[in-house]
Parts: sequence; structure tokens; C-alpha cells
Amino acid sequence: EKCRQIMTIEATAARPASHLFYQSRLRRPLADHAEGIYIWDEHGRKVIDGSSGAMVVNIGHSNRNVLDAMKRQMDKATFAYRLHFENQPAEDLARRLVGYMPEGLDKVFFVSGGSEAVESALKLARQWALAVGQGSRWKVISRFPSYHGSTLGALAVTGYDALKKPFLPMMQDMPHIKAPTAYLDRDNFSMEERGIRYADLLEEKILAEGPDSVLAFIMEPVGGASTGALVAPDSYYPRIREICDKYGILLIHDEVMSGAGRTGKYLGGDHWNCRPDIIALSKGLGAGYCPLGAMIAHNKLVQPVLDKGGFAHGYTYAGNPLACAAGLAVLEEIENQNLLENAATVGALIRSELERLAERYPFIGDVRGKGMLLAAEFIADRETMAPLPKHLEAHSRVVDIAYERGLIIYSRRTRGGVEGD
Ligand code: PMP
Repeated sequence: EKCRQIMTIEATAARPASHLFYQSRLRRPLADHAEGIYIWDEHGRKVIDGSSGAMVVNIGHSNRNVLDAMKRQMDKATFAYRLHFENQPAEDLARRLVGYMPEGLDKVFFVSGGSEAVESALKLARQWALAVGQGSRWKVISRFPSYHGSTLGALAVTGYDALKKPFLPMMQDMPHIKAPTAYLDRDNFSMEERGIRYADLLEEKILAEGPDSVLAFIMEPVGGASTGALVAPDSYYPRIREICDKYGILLIHDEVMSGAGRTGKYLGGDHWNCRPDIIALSKGLGAGYCPLGAMIAHNKLVQPVLDKGGFAHGYTYAGNPLACAAGLAVLEEIENQNLLENAATVGALIRSELERLAERYPFIGDVRGKGMLLAAEFIADRETMAPLPKHLEAHSRVVDIAYERGLIIYSRRTRGGVEGD
């Protein structure tokens, strides 16, 4: 609390009252400039951007090649409306991205962020069902906990109560199954058996809901904010695909946080050779240089929708040439600097250091993740994995203390948004 107060006072002392507002009254210093892993504030204080903001700036800040590519595009055109013109950067980025996608996923719809990418995926899935005469399908099953975005459609599939509750009457809440939190289980099953059991919850839910009403299943292949980099046992991933195939249900991978190289492969799902039907990407795609996201779908979904009159969906900034030029240059940096390999190597190093901390501090109950999408979960008791009392707000206290000492890290509640650190 004291850290928070100091930061708030420091941040706002010399500044006039603000007309901005976001989540709370908490204020932060003005960012002045950024380079590589560092951000400098208005007072010249240098902070390590350890979490790349909210896992966004995957290639580092102020990359010269990206800035130059953006300037070149700016000198040509910053906007050309997609109903009037196509543009080369969008075309080029789509082609390059498809090279990183599982086979068949070769249709790209650009958006400006993660929530928009998820909304687009849900709507394409629904329009596909209508186009192929399966209009009874509309339910999208997701996991609890999970995070898929803040717009009402994406929120309906999100499993994070604190963010969702106020809006329940305004949206169509969707069915959830328990996320594969096998690290919490204290039974006699092996991890592989647990993976199958968690995946089978999907089949149970499909049967309970009525298979003809279920449209899709959406999941984060490597968890993000709401679960702290949750990784399912290996057996989970192929079993999920099997179940989706059995009932004709689409599999949507939300790779907004786990994609674009953060886990050491371009897609989080690549660790298991997953074959989703639709992928949502954002964050590291534009890497903070421009708001950018993408929904990438299997051609077999897109063709029937276009044949039946088109995709009834769009955003003014979809496929913006400046954002796509930035995204293209970001992708080139990932390739030229071998950042996938780097994320795997550095991730392994950070992980082993976190594991060493866990040996020293019994309140670190689990270290998990892939590549540089890593988390340490704080608990009260290793035997039961009981969370710390929630009023202690341990997760945000650690984040505040790190911030005070010049390191940005990122935290969230891991147990459905109400407790867990
Ligand atoms: N999906 C996942 C997995 C995310 O982590 C996020 C953002 N944390 C979103 C969707 C929503 O993205 P945005 O905040 O850009 O709308």
C-alpha cells in the first residue's frame, strides 16, 4: 500500500488534474522514451520493462528497422479504406504470417487488438455454421479461468469473474469447462491421465449442452493473464482436437498472448503441433509499434461464408497500411534476430532461476509456462496448494515492490479472478 501511495504521489505531484481515466484512480509517471528493454519516465528514472507491458513489445522498444519501415510507409499513405483500396503491407504481412500457420489456415482478417481478433473468430465461426446449413450451432464453450478480451462477445467466453460479473445481464454468457489446472491436483493419476480427464470435460459439456447447439471451443494453448501461463499436460491437446472432430465443432486458439514468438515457437500451439481451425493473434504481432491483431482461419470456413454473401463483420481500421507495415517489419526482426530461438533459450534460463527461488521460498507453489511466457504462482500451502488470503493482494504487492525498484512485471488473480496470486 505504501509503495502504491509513494508512486501515486510521485507520479502526480507536478502534474495538473487529468481528464483521463482508466481502471482506477491509480496514476503513473509519464513515459518519456523507451529503448530495448528500458522505459524512461519524465523524471529520468529508468525501468526494465520485464513483461513487455502486457506481453506486447516482444522485440523490444524503439527498434530502428521497424521505425524506419513505418516512416517509409507514412511517407506513402497512412490510411486507405479497405472497401476502396487494398494495400501492399497488408498483403505482404498476410502472406508471411500464413507461412507460420498450421496447414490450411491461409485466410487472414486484420484487426486492431486482441478482443477484436477474438470477436472476429466467434463471428466467422457462426457465419460458417449458417453458411453450411448448421444454424442450430451457436454456443462457444471455453475454459474457466481464461481471458479472451473485454468486449461483450469476448467477455462472454472469458472466465474471470471480477471483470465479467457487472456485465452478465448484458450478454449471452457461454458454457465453461474447468481449465486443465493439473498442477493443483493431488490425486493418484499421472499427468498424462490428468490431461485426458481434463480434455474429456469438453465432451461431457458438449453432450450436456446438446452437440447440435455447440459451435466451437476456444482456448489459450499456453494460458495468459487469467491462469498465469497455464500449460496443460501433453495429452490434453490432441484429445481436444479429437473431441472437436467427433462432434463437428470448431477449435479456436486464442494466441493473443502466447503467439508471435513469446513461447519460443511462433505459436504456442506449435509445441504440440495443434491443428486449430481459427487463430486469434495480437500483442506481439504489432509489438507495441501499432495497434494490430489478426484472425487467421482455415480456408474451408472462409469460402462458404464468402460464397453465401460475405462476412457480415468489419472494423474501420482493419488492415491499416501503417499497422501492417509495422507488423511486417516486426516479423522480419523476429526472423533476422532469431528471436524464436532466443525466447526458448532465455526462457529456459529465467525458468531455472524462478525454480531456484521456489526452492528458497515455500510460498512459490508452482513455476510454469513456455519460453518467455512464464509465471510463478504464490500459495499458502504446498500440500494443498491453497491460495494466500486474498485480502493480502500478494500479487499486486510484489508487482508494486518490483516497480518501485525499477522492474516491471505483471500479475493477475489465478483462480477465476477472485483469488490466487
Ligand atoms: N486474449 C488473450 C489471451 C489476452 O491475453 C488478451 C489481452 N490480455 C486478449 C485476448 C484481449 O486483447 P486486447 O486487450 O488487445 O483487446
